[in-house]
Amino acid sequence: MKIMKFGGASLADAQKIYHVAGVIKNFAREEKVIIVVSAFLGVTDRLISIYQNYKANQIENGVKELQDLHDFHFDIAREIQKNKNGPCSFFDSLSQLFAQLTAYVTFHRDYGKEAFDHIVSYGERISSTFVACALQNLGVTAKPIESSKVIVTTDKFGDARVLIPQTRNQAERVLLPMLIQGIIPVFTGYFGATLDGRITTFGRGGSDYSATILAHVLDAQEVILWKEVDGVFSADPKKNGSARFLAEISYKKAAEMAKNGAKVLHPQALEPIIDKKIVVWVKNTFRPELAGTKIWQGNKT
Ligand code: ASP
Ligand code: MG
Repeated sequence: MKIMKFGGASLADAQKIYHVAGVIKNFAREEKVIIVVSAFLGVTDRLISIYQNYKANQIENGVKELQDLHDFHFDIAREIQKNKNGPCSFFDSLSQLFAQLTAYVTFHRDYGKEAFDHIVSYGERISSTFVACALQNLGVTAKPIESSKVIVTTDKFGDARVLIPQTRNQAERVLLPMLIQGIIPVFTGYFGATLDGRITTFGRGGSDYSATILAHVLDAQEVILWKEVDGVFSADPKKNGSARFLAEISYKKAAEMAKNGAKVLHPQALEPIIDKKIVVWVKNTFRPELAGTKIWQGNKT
């Protein structure tokens, strides 16, 4: 089984979402896959801005940004439906998610860390419904799954850590039956929930961590982190012309790079998989034929 995570830049519009659905469909022919999705490009930043406006009592700005975010998603949803005459319609669940989000930001009086995590989690809750719908329209059975029902965490809002035994139980209970029935889970990245059900996030870029957590508890064969670049480079190729593509790097090197601020992967993401020696690939969503970068224990013993 493989865990495949798609970042926000891979999910920026209807065309890209269908492209991602096609990549998933190809992989799913050969093996069981669980999909982890980030929010669409820029959406987490927009949700943070909405939170900040409400917190600062700039209600008018908050309402406007919320409306824009609503329209942005509904425009993409209409495109999703226009491109293919598939069976999926998700306008109801999308409306419901926006109604819940609006009620939460409007009536919640305490805009602390817990409210922050709750509000920003909507980016992934929304994007997972899109990807599942696009898959259904391509004839693939898929279902959005909220990670708060599976990943159990500490209560450190904004920087939560997984509680492995509880998460393993939930993953086996919720995800395995779906895989057995041939349903692809489209899992929300970035957040989990405390034992008493309060939403917690893992910090920015946390969907990588969601993917490696699932790989650990379900003993996946490998994790593929799909991005909009060919893999990992020795430096940022956008800023540095002499940046080299790295065909493989060790866990140790990847951890160092993440610590030094290179946007390789979320700083906690290697933790769940190092002991089990689960290989992580970083691949380009738009050039899936390329091998990408392999992150693994390395040749040295
Ligand atoms: N959407 C979240 C963020 O932008 C999580 C992620 O992308 O992994 O930080
Ligand atoms: Mg993101």
